[in-house]
Amino acid sequence: MSVWAEVVGQETAIAPLQAAVANAAAMTHAWIITGPPGSGRSHAARAFAAALQCPDGGCGTCRACTTALSGAHADVTVLATEKVTISIDEVRGLIATAQSSPSEGRWRVIVIEDADRMTERTSNVLLKSIEEPPPRTVWLLCAPSGEDIAVTIRSRSRHVSLRVPDPEVVAQLLVERDGVEPELARQCAYAAQSHIGVARRLARDPDARARRDQVLALATEIRGVGDAVLAAADLAAVAEEDAKAATEERDVAERNELLRTLGADDGGRLPPALRAQVKQLEDDQKRRATRHKRDVLDRAILDLLSLYRDVAVLQVGAREPLVNESHRGHLESLAGRTTLADTMRCLDALGVTRERLASNVAPLLALEAMALALRPRAAA
Ligand SMILES: [Zn+2]
Repeated sequence: MSVWAEVVGQETAIAPLQAAVANAAAMTHAWIITGPPGSGRSHAARAFAAALQCPDGGCGTCRACTTALSGAHADVTVLATEKVTISIDEVRGLIATAQSSPSEGRWRVIVIEDADRMTERTSNVLLKSIEEPPPRTVWLLCAPSGEDIAVTIRSRSRHVSLRVPDPEVVAQLLVERDGVEPELARQCAYAAQSHIGVARRLARDPDARARRDQVLALATEIRGVGDAVLAAADLAAVAEEDAKAATEERDVAERNELLRTLGADDGGRLPPALRAQVKQLEDDQKRRATRHKRDVLDRAILDLLSLYRDVAVLQVGAREPLVNESHRGHLESLAGRTTLADTMRCLDALGVTRERLASNVAPLLALEAMALALRPRAAA
């Protein structure tokens, strides 16, 4: 199976990458791969890295391919971060790596998965390396859109833009790659609105499906102010819980590991000189937890947006597949007792909430305002 097999529904977008693998004249030292979350941009970057290293241009089975895809190839470096920003030191480290020739592969490939998380100052440091690239080095920067990357870097890079894949194609991937039962795969691909990672999690984890149903229930169960405030608190708690589950265990392991490297065991007191390093780690972990919480909430709001989008589809009588087909009964009842104007108002309120959360408004406040806006206008 070729390395491109899992980059589904992006045939046109990845053609320039495949051309660059096949023909050195089509190669460039810096690429920007953009696409909405879940469209598979970091997967496309890894596939490109593998294809560049593979003697057969990306067979998918040789050692170069498998190690490049799994992140173990000596000449492929991937910076994947869960933090809100990429630090200048991390980028300086990558630049140092970029200077050395490939040790075994044909290229030294450096992937920055969330290049939109660089500050301007960090981007400027990176720019210098992209302007004068070592002959065998290739930079692959991934971001949601081209506008997320400094224009100076953009003008020196080739741009590949992925689109939202068709949900049917995502469903097929879940069936073929993950062995998911076809009907469930379809339901999850639509529910995830083609976000490949989310679709996969929904398909494999019944708890994730239950949490999503709980979020959708918000829209149909809010009747009054009291419900709205409770619903907002519930949603904030779910995000908090999720972030805790995802980060807690790793935080402790990382701290112990750091203490070990510093030569201080966990029981003893830490010499003042080392405290700064531990503090730095703790700050990074706090940022990671914040980011995770924000992602969970954003996902919840996307789910609610998909619900009102479905209600609008029903209200205008469009012949479009529903994102939440498995909730059709509830959706039809909501569509029947509200107007299209109500639905548009709810969609607007959800859009505003996303913006507020992105601009660091306290989550509970933003969610309360949202839940209040979702209340039925004319009391039923
Ligand atoms: Zn290969």
